[in-house]
Amino acid sequence: NPALTKIGAQMSNLTGVRAIMKDIIETLQTGAGRQFINLSAGNPLILPEVEQLWRDCTVDLLNSSEYGEVVCRYGSSQGYAPFIEAIVNDFNQRYGLNLTDKNILITPGSQTLYFYAANVFGGYTESGSLKQVVLPLSPDYTGYGGVALSPESLIAYKPTLDINAAAHRFKYRPDFSQLSINENTGCVIFSRPCNPTGNVLTDEEVNKIAALAAPYDIPVFIDSAYAPPYPALNFTKMTPVFGDNIIHCLSLSKAGLPGERIGIAIGDEKVIQVLECFQTNMCIHPSRYGQAIASRAINSGKLANISETVIRSFYQNKFTVLESTLDVVMPKDLPWLLHLGEGAIFAWLWFQNLPITDWELYQLLKQVGVIVVPGSSFFPGLREEWEHKHQCLRISLTGSDEEIAIAMQKLAKVVESVYQGD
Ligand code: PLP
Repeated sequence: NPALTKIGAQMSNLTGVRAIMKDIIETLQTGAGRQFINLSAGNPLILPEVEQLWRDCTVDLLNSSEYGEVVCRYGSSQGYAPFIEAIVNDFNQRYGLNLTDKNILITPGSQTLYFYAANVFGGYTESGSLKQVVLPLSPDYTGYGGVALSPESLIAYKPTLDINAAAHRFKYRPDFSQLSINENTGCVIFSRPCNPTGNVLTDEEVNKIAALAAPYDIPVFIDSAYAPPYPALNFTKMTPVFGDNIIHCLSLSKAGLPGERIGIAIGDEKVIQVLECFQTNMCIHPSRYGQAIASRAINSGKLANISETVIRSFYQNKFTVLESTLDVVMPKDLPWLLHLGEGAIFAWLWFQNLPITDWELYQLLKQVGVIVVPGSSFFPGLREEWEHKHQCLRISLTGSDEEIAIAMQKLAKVVESVYQGD
């Protein structure tokens, strides 16, 4: 085995949910004939209307003279010009902005964008001081856990909780009494809507975070992988927030193109330029085929339309099935709390004073044929111990209605016996 560097060793460890996926795949493979309801995936389902859109755009590309230019030639590091133009026009028109192509960078998936950001703005400066990558509300996207080459730069903050015990609902809020954004901060990142919780920070909360960062010129990356206009996986009203120090980050993965790896950063020209140089060094440029078909879907308005009329309602209905089943089958006297389903493709459950850990609960659920993800994988950067970390589960809304309902019934039985100490 060749010797690994510190970074080599660190990057060869799977972090967060990726580590659990290994256990899930093994369970599914060795489950020998057992039927599992697998509600662990972060992979969106293939919706027929969405697949058809991408097929149609592909046919159009194949029949155009543009095809050779798209796949047979290198292009600019910033991204494919017609795609950048499509984004500029769509966002200017939709949100009354004055973007130019200099405000846009296309990356191979948005995960890459957070990797650039965490290492361009986080980590050690030339003078040796450590710039932090601040996650203002923990739990948040597990993928942020692996992006910092100096992992000690990643720092997340515990939220406050709005609890409606009688209704068995709760919601996280940023804890502004604890959140510290100052000269030691390199950048701020959060997802809105949030994976894993389905939370949507309010406009006011977002503006407050951006205002804390503004005096220090700290870029705030708003991970909008589930936000409008595409894939529009918000079930509550929300408007994308733009601002001088805000980098609005999109992904087309939840709009049906995860395989094509398309991430989009929209923001200040100087920040975009730095990220573009990092990208040139790393991979020259993102692949262009996906960008070429996506420009068609955006220019025709079909992507935004299908997002609103098909993708959003599909997952919102799944959440309703899950929520209404839980309200019927879960014992009323137990302290289970469902996070408000404001968006994304997950439900997040908290079991207050759970007598076992989330990992043990995950194992018990596997035994009754239900696979979910233990919540503790979703607190990257949170240093302090917090019992809450071991009391939550993420349930993916990627099953059939029937599977979701059956899984919640099974979960209710398991949870009841756990609290009874059986
Ligand atoms: N951000 C969030 C919140 C996500 O849930 C995901 C994927 O699940 C990503 C980023 C990464 O997406 P991609 O790299 O496919 O754009």
